[in-house]
Amino acid sequence: MSTDKKLSGKTALITGASKGLGKAMALAFADAGAQLALVSRDMKLLAEVQAACRGRGAQAEVYQVDVTSEAQVEQLKRDVLARFGKLTILVNNAGINFRKPVTEFSLAEWHQILDTNLTSVFLLCRAFVPHLEGGCGRIINLSSMMAHVSIAHRVPYSASKAGIMGLTKSLALEVAAKGITVNAISPGPCGTEINAPILNNPELLAKFTAQLPVGRFGKPEEVAALAVFLASGDSGFITGTDVVIDGGWIAQ
Ligand code: NAD
Repeated sequence: MSTDKKLSGKTALITGASKGLGKAMALAFADAGAQLALVSRDMKLLAEVQAACRGRGAQAEVYQVDVTSEAQVEQLKRDVLARFGKLTILVNNAGINFRKPVTEFSLAEWHQILDTNLTSVFLLCRAFVPHLEGGCGRIINLSSMMAHVSIAHRVPYSASKAGIMGLTKSLALEVAAKGITVNAISPGPCGTEINAPILNNPELLAKFTAQLPVGRFGKPEEVAALAVFLASGDSGFITGTDVVIDGGWIAQ
């Protein structure tokens, strides 16, 4: 899939852009010609991503925001619109996961996962939908193959990702007439920090890899190339759905 300047003249906001899939999408969007508003809590890591994007010729600004905070998201809206004047692409990528039996989850941990993975998507969409460019606006929400299938010890995570799918469908219908599409990307296991408990456990890593028909974890760049396509003009007839990129996991 070519990322050849498909996003030229477009402004994209990416949450959780300091590392992992968010960082890979920031770099791919920069290569594709987008101007970038990069959001995360870690300004040190974010500054490195900003420098890499600028090194690829992109305009890139960084914003320290906790996406679970309504006040911070509203301030982000004011700051991004003051800087760029408009937004074309909103990528809701920030996410977390804790893995344990349901009986060991506190209510606070449940809220932390739901607030980070799902409520943040509502807050960002509510803030930016009125300002998304008509005709070519794009919202891309990071769901997961765990919205389709699940495994034990993922109760809040799977619930949050399935919630993203409901949000994605309803919002897609709400904004379709404005030429704005809303889609999700549902990755299978990729080699990023969110999977450190698996990647750092040789036994678990072997077990997960054995369950992947392609025999390996996904690369962040593969998810990023898909995001560029969904953000581009080529994807205008795709809305209210998700694209699964999982090495064949859910086909089994
Ligand atoms: P990661 O842990 O490498 O990065 C997560 C990013 O989200 C970081 O930049 C982090 O700072 C940011 N973040 C977390 N909480 C935040 C908050 N409250 N406010 C602002 N930023 C916050 O994870 P990743 O693998 O890059 O995952 C990105 C997204 O893709 C997540 O939504 C995740 O659930 C989803 N996903 C990942 C995989 C995978 O295997 N990596 C699979 C399916 C879905």
